[in-house]
Amino acid sequence: EAKSRGRNTYQFFEPVLSAGVLQRLVMENALRGAMERNELLLHYQPQVDLGSGGICAAEALLRWRSAELGLVSPADFIPVAEEMGLIISIGEWVLRTACAQNKAWQDAGLPPIRVAVNVSALQVLAGTLPGIVAETLRDTGLDPRYLELELTESVMIREVEATLSQVIELKRLGVTISLDDFGTGYSSLGYLSRFPLDRLKIDQGFVRNITTEPKNAAIARATVALSQGLGMVVIAEGVETEGQLRYLHSIGCEEIQGYLFSRPVPPEELAVMVGQGKALSLDGTELESART
Ligand code: C2E
Ligand code: MG
Ligand code: MG
Ligand code: MG
Repeated sequence: EAKSRGRNTYQFFEPVLSAGVLQRLVMENALRGAMERNELLLHYQPQVDLGSGGICAAEALLRWRSAELGLVSPADFIPVAEEMGLIISIGEWVLRTACAQNKAWQDAGLPPIRVAVNVSALQVLAGTLPGIVAETLRDTGLDPRYLELELTESVMIREVEATLSQVIELKRLGVTISLDDFGTGYSSLGYLSRFPLDRLKIDQGFVRNITTEPKNAAIARATVALSQGLGMVVIAEGVETEGQLRYLHSIGCEEIQGYLFSRPVPPEELAVMVGQGKALSLDGTELESART
């Protein structure tokens, strides 16, 4: 056809699949068997109590080492897993792996810490989370006080009643509930008084320019005051510099998490940090051994 139009005529073909759609199909295909092929793993990032300087918890962060795609960021593949419905089974795997890991650390004699697990809104909306958490705690033998679930604001404002009853059930099991990425969602503050939340995480977007951007500093201060007023523990995420640490400490923020203390690391490295009592010193922030 193109030929019959003559030698100097160009034909432009609309590709059937755009690069983005093709990329997406490749990812969906690779993600489908990722769990079975053992391509998923967890890294752990310590959370530091500014009172003692010691590690009080570790957040489990999902990693995907794809045979085809290499290392894929959770920011890229979790939304895809959510759309495919895969987040339910992946989420169960994350929960089980993190609980079993934390129990293994305790059985090895490490000082106990909480493990914090991110929960997708879809896991809550599925309605089965309390049952799955109860079963996982039973199977792994982890004491519920050492499990924390991180929820985001998006889930608090959808299906409010159903979500509330599940959060209450989870609290009854004895697990800790925290609100992740605070301030980035549709912050209607009403749900803060309705939901029995234990902890609030100041999003790294507010921490990033906290020492140079007065508006971010104001939001951080207001968030700390709000948490204290509501009886919640407040932690700042994405803390990268001593200046950020000092400012957060000065406004009463109780805990921090970020590259300043440690990046997310494989479980063996987290165990070494906890075992050695790696700690953050506020006057200068050099790392030292807290225990002898
Ligand atoms: P998040 O739960 O808010 O986790 C914090 C993210 O900030 C992590 O990114 C962490 O590596 C990164 N981070 C920590 N400290 C610093 C810092 O000092 N500076 C900077 N620039 N970044 C820092 P990551 O691991 O890429 O995870 C991204 C997001 O993916 C998470 O945000 C969470 O929403 C989601 N995610 C990760 N694992 C899971 C999971 O198992 N289940 C679900 N549903 N979501 C997960
Ligand atoms: Mg989180
Ligand atoms: Mg966060
Ligand atoms: Mg985030």
